[in-house]
Amino acid sequence: MSLEERARRQELLAQQAATADVCRLCTIGSQRRNNVYGEGDPCARLMVVGEGPGETEDLLGRPFVGRAGQLLDKMLNAIGLAREEVYICNTVKCRPTLEGSHGPRNRAPDFEEMANCRRFLDRQIEIIAPEIILALGSPAAKSFLGRDFQITKMRGRWYAGPNGIPLMVTFHPAYLLRQTGGEIEATKRMVWNDLKAVRAKLDEPPIPRPGQAQQVELFP
Ligand code: URA
Repeated sequence: MSLEERARRQELLAQQAATADVCRLCTIGSQRRNNVYGEGDPCARLMVVGEGPGETEDLLGRPFVGRAGQLLDKMLNAIGLAREEVYICNTVKCRPTLEGSHGPRNRAPDFEEMANCRRFLDRQIEIIAPEIILALGSPAAKSFLGRDFQITKMRGRWYAGPNGIPLMVTFHPAYLLRQTGGEIEATKRMVWNDLKAVRAKLDEPPIPRPGQAQQVELFP
């Protein structure tokens, strides 16, 4: 990717982040500390989409920087990807919270919040045009594949995501961290298989796009 193209995408993403920053369509827009728009390589081949920012993300304005984020970094490293090489974002850019006796608690985004925020996610996908989208957890999967998506039965397969981009769903790292006892090994194995499928797809030879010059044809 040329330096100019990278800079162009970075600029477009920065403009969008500024628009998201002033959005107050949802109540959580007025409750959050920071807009957690997304970060990573604007020319990434892989886009990772989580559900929504948690407390640490809200504090720092960056996605996946808490405990789940540390595990996500390890998951990416396991398939040979550094965090900086991918683009990481969420279905919603503001932290969804519930009032608890010790202050606000994290919760999953609801469908209205995901729908309100969808234009920001769609624009990110359009600008970055990743080769693969990896959706983490049930809310992210449902936001792409519909409310009937059942993660335990339907993860680990390829789906057509936005703009036909191949989409894989796996368990959220926070789910892995919450698991205890005998289930954890089986869940880890499933996540590992899903990650290996992502790696294998990234390693497939590129499919030439229409109009793309092919040296073999031009200079046989
Ligand atoms: N969980 C998410 O889904 N997203 C984050 O950014 C952090 C934790």
